[in-house]
Amino acid sequence: MKNNKMTEFETKCVHSGVDEFEYGSVVPPIYQTSTFKFKNARHGAALFAGEEKGYIYTRMLNPTVEALENSIAELEGGFKGLGCASGMAAVHTVFASLVQAGDHVVCSTAVYGPTNTLLSTIMKKFGVETSFVDTSDLKAVKNAVRPNTKIFYVETPGNPTLSISDIAAIAGIAHKSNSLLVVDNTFLSPVLQKPIDFGADIVLHSLTKFLNGHADVVGGIVVVKVEEMYKLFRKTLNQTGGVIDPFNSFLVHRGIKTLSLRMQRHCENAIKVAEFLESHPAVKRVYYPGLASHPQFELAKKQQLGAGGMISFELEGNSFDSSDGFEAGQALMNSVQLCQLAVSLGGVESLIQHPASMTHYTMGKQARETAGISEGLVRLSVGIENVNDIIDDLEQALEKVRQAASVF
Ligand SMILES: *Cc1c(COP(=O)(O)O)cnc(C)c1O
Repeated sequence: MKNNKMTEFETKCVHSGVDEFEYGSVVPPIYQTSTFKFKNARHGAALFAGEEKGYIYTRMLNPTVEALENSIAELEGGFKGLGCASGMAAVHTVFASLVQAGDHVVCSTAVYGPTNTLLSTIMKKFGVETSFVDTSDLKAVKNAVRPNTKIFYVETPGNPTLSISDIAAIAGIAHKSNSLLVVDNTFLSPVLQKPIDFGADIVLHSLTKFLNGHADVVGGIVVVKVEEMYKLFRKTLNQTGGVIDPFNSFLVHRGIKTLSLRMQRHCENAIKVAEFLESHPAVKRVYYPGLASHPQFELAKKQQLGAGGMISFELEGNSFDSSDGFEAGQALMNSVQLCQLAVSLGGVESLIQHPASMTHYTMGKQARETAGISEGLVRLSVGIENVNDIIDDLEQALEKVRQAASVF
């Protein structure tokens, strides 16, 4: 099927990026080769000069990788994608391509931890300054703009509090100040949110999460809207070397074929789990954009096609222990059976973690408080298992937390 005939998104997930391959292969073959033979000296010269299309060396471009890049670019509505070795390699590619010493970045406070660290240590070392602001507050975003601001970097929903930022409004602020808007779309995937449609210039993903969906690959991608940017980013990636390899590209491309089905199930399960948690006496508060109690519920409905598979919730602290929920969070981690105690997210299996003692431990209590991460906050990546099994597991685990509370 030719890409230009595709209309519905589910169809695109199955067919995008799959063009004509040798021997009529239905899926992209794994071109597990580091280099490609030239037909003759003139051909080699033409490839290097960019006068002919073809492959030279896998760090520069590989057909299996390119098939994946085309697939995701099509799903996001971008010009081209650039496959990276990890989500962080994708984040780094964006900054290494677009900023230089003296430039300024505005970034969401609720952002993936290592993205915060990359900006506040490595990029800072190279003379780039970052203001971390609550991007769900448009006034705060406007106030952060400086004459040297080059990039607005937004994660929505944010990690781990699931706050929602208004992509179209921030794109407006960014473009008015001659800056670019970059959106990390990892938490929703293009099935549920297409930032380019709302004015974003660049979209990136950790492929490790929903796009691959099977917890067996680490990878990332940057999707750009225009050709000049593609050329610039390709140069950066070729020189810094953080490319995805053919085998991982093949696996992610295979994962994408079921992306729309999986996202649908993640959403169906997550709303039921969120409603269960919201009604449970041991749970103080649930953060899920699909609940009417979410502060940006209306905005989520405007820019998302679904609320996604990620839920955060706060355990009641004071009634159970004297550590503001920290002990309760730990007790819950030790009590779940079906939900796997692991970081990462977006796979078919439900994963649970406790930010205060795990992903956000090194921040310290004070910094966690500022970022809205309470001691009893729990992050759950709702899988595609039968939802009753997930709820039963949480119910028995919450009951154990209640019993354990008596010994705190
Ligand atoms: C995991 C993650 C990343 C980083 O991706 P890696 O593949 O682990 O390098 C970036 N952003 C978000 C939102 C993530 O969840």
